[in-house]
Amino acid sequence: MRAVRTVLGDVPPDRLGVCDAHDHLFLRSPALPGHELDDPAAAAAELATFRELGGGTLVQWTPFGMGRAAGELPALSRAAGVHLVAATGLHQAAHYAPGLLERLRGGGLAAFFTAELTEGMLTGDDPDGPRGPARAGMVKVAGMFHGLDGHAREVMAAAAEAHHATGAPIGVHHEMGTAAADVLALLTGQLGVPAASVLLGHLNRFPDPGLHRELAASGAYLAFDGPSRAHHATDWRLLGCLEDLAAAGHADQLLIGGDTTSATARAATGGGPGVPYLLRVLRPRIAAALGEDAAAALFVRNPARAFAWA
Ligand SMILES: [Zn+2]
Repeated sequence: MRAVRTVLGDVPPDRLGVCDAHDHLFLRSPALPGHELDDPAAAAAELATFRELGGGTLVQWTPFGMGRAAGELPALSRAAGVHLVAATGLHQAAHYAPGLLERLRGGGLAAFFTAELTEGMLTGDDPDGPRGPARAGMVKVAGMFHGLDGHAREVMAAAAEAHHATGAPIGVHHEMGTAAADVLALLTGQLGVPAASVLLGHLNRFPDPGLHRELAASGAYLAFDGPSRAHHATDWRLLGCLEDLAAAGHADQLLIGGDTTSATARAATGGGPGVPYLLRVLRPRIAAALGEDAAAALFVRNPARAFAWA
């Protein structure tokens, strides 16, 4: 039977409830100084508000080595009564301290991702650190601006190998929403990952409806997110992009998340839109624009399929 792997164990897909399909409770990068999400109490407050608004599951797309705090996630999930899905995988090379990626490559990236999916995630950012009981439920990878560098290709090849070993879905960060066609050609074309296990993220940052329809024709999931302060320029195009894809018959491939990436973007403690914005503001607007059935697809039915292991 297919299941979604949460930090507390495997859950039948129809038990996820309302899902924030792409967000962050913890995040840290040398490329984003001053924007750390590293406070468990603030994460708990954000999650509690999400639960009060009817949220059932949050998927954290923070990959290894970026302060994802895998050791904190089980207790947060239990306390809030919200399923949490965590990610293994890697972001762009710029997000890592020099030397860390070399140490990780020593044991093989595919074996590392697979171990995080099946045995348990490293609790910290040290490749030689302890492994906790919580397992990852997806593999995160990242493209570059309008292309893929050697690091991105290497990580995607390892992610594909981990997918073939486990069935776990692969979620893709697209820089400013670009290079999604290159990613699809690599993952589904060359590496044989089924399109239904590929989740293309951040497409709202490149709001080209024609391109979105071409990508959707592949059968992959299109994961939209926002709003975020950093990407305000394209936030107001979100509903139009979703309407266009739904009208083209792709409502069953759409995912939506909050993608909170900085402490000031948090609702409970930062005065920003945060995780709750997704249910407080966006869900009613999506229901009004696309209809209740499409909203239920975006928030409940689609993530249940997308995050279930093949
Ligand atoms: Zn993200």
